[in-house]
Amino acid sequence: MNRVLVPLQLDGAAPVLGAQAHRFCGETMGTTWQVIFATPERGVKPGLRAALQDELDLVVAQMSTWRPGSDLDRFNRAPAGTWHALAEPFAHVFEAAVWMANVSGGAFNPAAGALVNLWGFGPAPRYTDPGFRVPDDPAVQAALARSDWRALQWDADLRRAQQPGGVCLDLSAIAKGYAVDRVAQRLADMGLRHTLVEVGGELRGEGLALGGQPWWVDLELPPAVQGAHPLLPTRVALHGLCVATSGDYRRAYTHNGAIWPHTIDPRHGRPVAHGLASVSVLHEACLWADAWSTALMVLGREKGVALAAEHGIAALFVQREPDGRLTETLTPAMEALAG
Ligand code: ADP
Ligand code: MG
Repeated sequence: MNRVLVPLQLDGAAPVLGAQAHRFCGETMGTTWQVIFATPERGVKPGLRAALQDELDLVVAQMSTWRPGSDLDRFNRAPAGTWHALAEPFAHVFEAAVWMANVSGGAFNPAAGALVNLWGFGPAPRYTDPGFRVPDDPAVQAALARSDWRALQWDADLRRAQQPGGVCLDLSAIAKGYAVDRVAQRLADMGLRHTLVEVGGELRGEGLALGGQPWWVDLELPPAVQGAHPLLPTRVALHGLCVATSGDYRRAYTHNGAIWPHTIDPRHGRPVAHGLASVSVLHEACLWADAWSTALMVLGREKGVALAAEHGIAALFVQREPDGRLTETLTPAMEALAG
């Protein structure tokens, strides 16, 4: 038996008889992307692939911590007190990230770049580098002092942000989701209504797959420790819906027997360690699914479920119990999709 999640409303006609499925894929943001769509047209518009890659490249050029010379990288290197006009996409993601920081009490923090780097999850040094050492307390305190998102001044009218000095923006927990939304919008602008877009495991589905079925997607689960998986697969109909999953098993290292994932709790400056194995969030916008999944991952099950419920967010939490069992918690909005 599977758990099946279906949006409360399904609309739109299925791709007509004889429609074709097309698939494009590539690489971006240190991961892979793919797009599948169903259309009655046999051929595909020339330049379609390049158009999709342009959308992804735009996000990288503006918001990557990994691309030297990106707009974000230039902001991070800028002297204290300087103002920087942000391009519209960058500004949109920045505003969303600051909103998420406020709502989550700093669990989600777009200014946590110094901490992310310190723990080896930025461009350099990497936690996989030979000789990488876990940071000591003074180093954590120094990075914490540079990670205050409230120190960022934002001038909405002129769409510009001030570098308060030494703050490293990191939008990696939200930019992938935003990139999914942009690619999906570009496909829609080209008249394609039945599309599935994926970047590094974050997905957005519109319309229907060939044959009139929704785009069925299984939520990503933490790997089973041994043998058969103890959790039922959860199958979602991605119809005008997006999903993002944050997990402690994705990029992580083990230190003194504990898992240290690439999600940092910026409130005390250390990787999260409260036994939450993963959080999946369903949302109409992938930007928000991505941001919420990271915020909830940091908050942990108890506080995360409460905040998600307060905001009507559909989320599924998988907790690693002290005895090693994996247990699931669904927010009320997620329960509603399960029917
Ligand atoms: P994934 O979906 O790959 O698990 P996330 O969306 O959770 O990734 O983003 C993780 C990345 O976000 C990290 O590699 C780091 O760059 C950044 N990050 C880590 N902790 C936080 C945080 N508390 N708030 C915002 N960004 C964070
Ligand atoms: Mg995220």
